[in-house]
Amino acid sequence: MRRIAVIGAGQAGAQLALGLQTHGYDVTLVTDRGPDEIRRGPVMSSQCMFDTSLQSERELGLHHWEDRAPDISGIAFSLIGPHGTPDVSWRAPLEGHAHSVDQRVKCAAWIEQFADCGRGEVVLHEAGVDDLE
Ligand SMILES: Cc1cc2nc3c(=O)[nH]c(=O)nc-3n(C[C@H](O)[C@H](O)[C@H](O)COP(=O)(O)OP(=O)(O)OC[C@H]3O[C@@H](n4cnc5c(N)ncnc54)[C@H](O)[C@@H]3O)c2cc1C
Repeated sequence: MRRIAVIGAGQAGAQLALGLQTHGYDVTLVTDRGPDEIRRGPVMSSQCMFDTSLQSERELGLHHWEDRAPDISGIAFSLIGPHGTPDVSWRAPLEGHAHSVDQRVKCAAWIEQFADCGRGEVVLHEAGVDDLE
């Protein structure tokens, strides 16, 4: 089985590493921040995950917050004009619910899940060009 290194353990990297691990690949996950540093660190984004993205997490058994995250059922957008009133304003329902789980909680838990599985290696290191070469 091919050996694969994934650099960065964010929404993309941590999920990719866990998915490859599930499919039997020998994966090394390189992250410049460990789980505790991520948990104590700054907010990573506003992290609204829509249904299709959540489905990928569900299929990999990674959406551990299904029953705790409030369902987001629609989006509303307003662009405030120079007079303080909305120039543009719209509201739309979503076809499937979205969820917003703090990425610090998710990514830290996913790194620990990857490490606990025992088949992959987590390397705490800021990867540079030399590492890529
Ligand atoms: C304010 C804001 C709001 C956003 N809101 C949304 C939203 O609502 N919905 C949505 O889908 N997207 C949103 N995004 C986009 C969001 O950032 C991406 O969807 C997602 O977080 C990107 O995941 P990623 O894994 O590519 O990057 P990141 O989540 O940034 O993860 C990258 C990881 O790699 C690590 N890293 C970086 N460099 C190195 C290195 N050299 N060596 C080792 N590790 C390294 C970092 O520490 C980090 O943990 C938002 C972004 C911002 C900034």
